[in-house]
Amino acid sequence: MRAGQKRKCNFSEKSCMICGNTFKPTSPRQKVCASPGCKDILRRKYEKERAYYAKVQKQIEIVKNKGLLADAKEAKRSNMTYGQYKAMEWLMQNDHRNAQNEL
Ligand SMILES: [Zn+2]
Repeated sequence: MRAGQKRKCNFSEKSCMICGNTFKPTSPRQKVCASPGCKDILRRKYEKERAYYAKVQKQIEIVKNKGLLADAKEAKRSNMTYGQYKAMEWLMQNDHRNAQNEL
């Protein structure tokens, strides 16, 4: 590497989002100072947020897998509440079963 080719780190000073001290970031995405305490707090904050989003995502998947979302949409389309729609669906299924039993 020739002299003068050194990577520039001329980012303007920022204030640490944890302790508020000003620091010279080494990357434009750096949000906290170089203090290990601040980095640790930030990391834990992200882990907490990631865990929360993972939980929400899981709940969405469960709803999708059960077809609840599709049912809710169908109910809305038929101007029924979800409960009404489910009740109707149940009645229809039971009618069908009763009809079959009578044969
Ligand atoms: Zn800090």
